[in-house]
Amino acid sequence: MAHQDSAMPPEDHEPGSDAAGEAGTAFACTSCGAVAGVVRLVPAGAAVDMGSPIGEQRFDRDGAMIDRWIGGRNWQALDPDRRARAGEILAQPHPDPGALHAIHWELAPFWCRGCRRPYCRDHWMSTVIMDDGFYDYTAGICPSGHHQILDD
Ligand SMILES: [Zn+2]
Ligand SMILES: [Zn+2]
Repeated sequence: MAHQDSAMPPEDHEPGSDAAGEAGTAFACTSCGAVAGVVRLVPAGAAVDMGSPIGEQRFDRDGAMIDRWIGGRNWQALDPDRRARAGEILAQPHPDPGALHAIHWELAPFWCRGCRRPYCRDHWMSTVIMDDGFYDYTAGICPSGHHQILDD
């Protein structure tokens, strides 16, 4: 066995952050302070609980889990470059949801581009758009009247 129990790992994967648990970075709603969304990185092959009815899933690519948002849990694939940039942002003491949004909007769909602030799902006025009887996307209006897509 390799003797790797004492040395600090050269890369990220800090114990207790995105390794295995349900921990993540929570972003608070500007209007009410409730959790607008929780973002955590999920390494390829790690088991993630997608909630009912999907249950446990393993993805063959690195990604991020966005939780507490509309529709429950969303998984977003990240290529190595985006994963590295998201990891840097999430490692900061006060991660910037706008910076996450800039990497990929679905990493921080709760972040309003107009206000440059996050809102929880209760403060977005959302409308589900159907296409031929199937879910297409969710449109939202923030408390200041900005329109944007919340889920696709
Ligand atoms: Zn709110
Ligand atoms: Zn807004």
